[in-house]
Amino acid sequence: MAQDLASVAADKTKAELALLRGLLEHGLLIDCGVPGIYGRGPVFEDTLQRFNDFVSRLTVHDQATPLHFPPVMNRTYMERVDYLESFPHLAGIIFSFKGTDLQHHELVSKVRAGEDWSQLQSMTEVVLTPAACHPLYPICTGTLPESGKLIDLTSYCFRHEPSPDPARMQMFRMREHVRMGKPDAVVAWREMWMERGIALLKDLGLDAYLVAANDPFFGRGGRMLAVNQREQQLKFEIVTPITSSEIPTAIMSFNYHQDHFSKLYDIRSSDGETAHTACLGFGLERIMIALFKTHGFAPARWPAAVRQKLWP
Ligand code: AMP
Ligand code: ZN
Repeated sequence: MAQDLASVAADKTKAELALLRGLLEHGLLIDCGVPGIYGRGPVFEDTLQRFNDFVSRLTVHDQATPLHFPPVMNRTYMERVDYLESFPHLAGIIFSFKGTDLQHHELVSKVRAGEDWSQLQSMTEVVLTPAACHPLYPICTGTLPESGKLIDLTSYCFRHEPSPDPARMQMFRMREHVRMGKPDAVVAWREMWMERGIALLKDLGLDAYLVAANDPFFGRGGRMLAVNQREQQLKFEIVTPITSSEIPTAIMSFNYHQDHFSKLYDIRSSDGETAHTACLGFGLERIMIALFKTHGFAPARWPAAVRQKLWP
């Protein structure tokens, strides 16, 4: 059995390298010298925009409010939501130089000599956004309208998980819809979207299915958090085989936070109770990569039924 798992993992790694090579050779992704950091070529970007438009057409009647945030946020937001308790290994904190002239000389000579210069850096007030919805909750303090709120967000997100797998990037875009309101309404919304998400991805010819999931919590304490999250069915993912059918890749996630964010930021329903929140996230690069893997590197030759959805 252990042998089987090892050979599945080895086959997956081989498939990841081959897929990455194909994406680079076709100019879809551009190597930037660090695993998980890529430029996006014109065809990749055009196709991603087409997918975004497809989602926008399908959800137009939801009347979600579009908001935009930069991919950097207030460090205290990350501290307050316990991100560093759960995911210290993924967090990206921005440091800068705040020293004297003398320390500046020291910094430059260490950089020139190829020595460690991290001691000459100080933490700033900003961090890289780890999920598109994080900057949203702090601005929602107060009482929601009777029907709650629905927000549409897209952001580049950072997670320090360098990998040769092109579907595991360090900087990638997540498009999220975030629902806030009374618990029943939030739960019903998430259930509606699980079916809708699968249908939407199947329409694009992807072999997509729903699984219960947990976040990659850090350390021994994290194992308990992961078990809890699964037991309470707080996270589901839509997965699809990209580089392995035994280990499929999550391309869409559904997270039910209950009152985690709303308690911290005092977000209330119209009845005065603490609101509940949930979000769904499309991993935009992962969906693109799944499409390129499934239908080939040239969208002009994709099946007509798929092209018709994206180039209507
Ligand atoms: P999560 O917040 O972990 O549920 O992530 C939301 C979505 O972002 C996932 O369903 C993935 O599609 C996508 N995603 C997560 N991590 C990565 C990554 N390292 N590279 C690319 N996409 C990712
Ligand atoms: Zn979210």
